[in-house]
Amino acid sequence: MPISDFQVVIGLEVHAQLLTASKIFCGCSTAFGGAPNAHTCPVCLGLPGALPALNRSVVEMAVRTGLALGCEIRPKSVFARKNYFYPDLPKGYQISQYELPICEGGEVTFTLDGRDHTARLVRIHMEEDAGKNVHDVSADGSSGVDLNRAGVPLVEIVSRPDLRSAEEAVEYLKALRAILMALGVNDGNMQEGSLRCDANVSVMRKGASELGTRCEIKNMNSFRFLKQAIEFEARRQVELIEAGEPVVQETRLFDPDRGETRSMRSKEEAHDYRYFPEPDLPPVIVEAALVERLRAALPELPRAKAERYQRSLGLSAQDAGNLVADAAVSAWFDAALAAYGAGPEAAKKVANWVIGELARLANETGEAPATWKLTPARLAAVLRLIDAGTIGGPGAKQVVEEVFRTGAEPDAVVKAKGLAQVSDEGAIEAAVDKVLAANPGEVEKYRGGRKNLVGFFVGQVMKEMRGKGNPAVVNALLRRKLGD
Ligand SMILES: [Zn+2]
Repeated sequence: MPISDFQVVIGLEVHAQLLTASKIFCGCSTAFGGAPNAHTCPVCLGLPGALPALNRSVVEMAVRTGLALGCEIRPKSVFARKNYFYPDLPKGYQISQYELPICEGGEVTFTLDGRDHTARLVRIHMEEDAGKNVHDVSADGSSGVDLNRAGVPLVEIVSRPDLRSAEEAVEYLKALRAILMALGVNDGNMQEGSLRCDANVSVMRKGASELGTRCEIKNMNSFRFLKQAIEFEARRQVELIEAGEPVVQETRLFDPDRGETRSMRSKEEAHDYRYFPEPDLPPVIVEAALVERLRAALPELPRAKAERYQRSLGLSAQDAGNLVADAAVSAWFDAALAAYGAGPEAAKKVANWVIGELARLANETGEAPATWKLTPARLAAVLRLIDAGTIGGPGAKQVVEEVFRTGAEPDAVVKAKGLAQVSDEGAIEAAVDKVLAANPGEVEKYRGGRKNLVGFFVGQVMKEMRGKGNPAVVNALLRRKLGD
């Protein structure tokens, strides 16, 4: 039976690190990096007798996340102990939420192939992150534990099994990431693991009503790995079923080097964790007034912003979607547009630079928009140089790259690199005359009706002028001389 006779069913559990300055139950820094165990204290080291105290910002960020995703905010939620032993968890338990999470319900809407899809959420709960095992720390190959990450606040966002392909899962995660970044609760950095995701994957025969046995794939930290892992896992399960073997419920790891998932451990059931209410923390009470204050202060969310870009700026759905995928990029776009001018024509020009050349340069350097040396005002200055005919397209590209790398002022770059476009008719006419004299055969063919040869002449004149001729003037002069 081929894979096309099966339907893959996916639910995602996304862990998002909250952008608080301090940890969830102590005052230690949440900064990434730092010497191993530099950001620790008795609470996050799990020393006996140390007592946790809840960070208020964590609750507010969790509530804002819930409001943005249309969840119901529980007025009273409870922390619970999730008991398991692992070297990076010195307490022997993780403080999480179980029966009474802070948010329930809600949904994430995303677009795939021009169609809107919605995946429902089960819940969002708050919890602490664990530490990190570091292997081969010394010459004898021993391992160490770095607890800087222990106690860093997370929200876990759990979807229902509403996703039906690897592509849907990826678009769901992209939409969720954009929302979290727009809220300022998460930095969206999947490489550093501040946003990571587990996927529950099962397959069932098309038309079946009962879900198949699922496997959970842990900790994928890129969109590409998520897609590869789901595709591999779906194929593996279909092959088992075809061979008449059962799919065993288990936790699996994705190996990016080999592009496959492999068994990690048999899947725990909730009762394996012996959850019970955390006795060292009182229930979390979220007052209605706080919820309303946070609701009123929610920023414009990515989908609303994309719609506004299309409606009031005339951008295409694709351009708008591209810009809002990263709140920092769309903020930069807004600032550049404000510096340059209003209207659809200006918006299209600015969007083209941001999505094209600037995305390429930013990708190369890995710099965030806020630290780009090409400020919004400097891009506006480049665009005005183009509008004034001072530089042409190829020159503008060179100016933008130089400003992006050095932070120099655009007009200074134009002067220093001699990129100014030549619009002087005398100079262009001399080049045109030279080209026509050197190509009598082509001139004859053109006059005989081969009008598409104009491109050849423009190219020759541009070459003669080392790319600096004003294309409009070159075109006009050529047509005049060729007798159009
Ligand atoms: Zn601490």
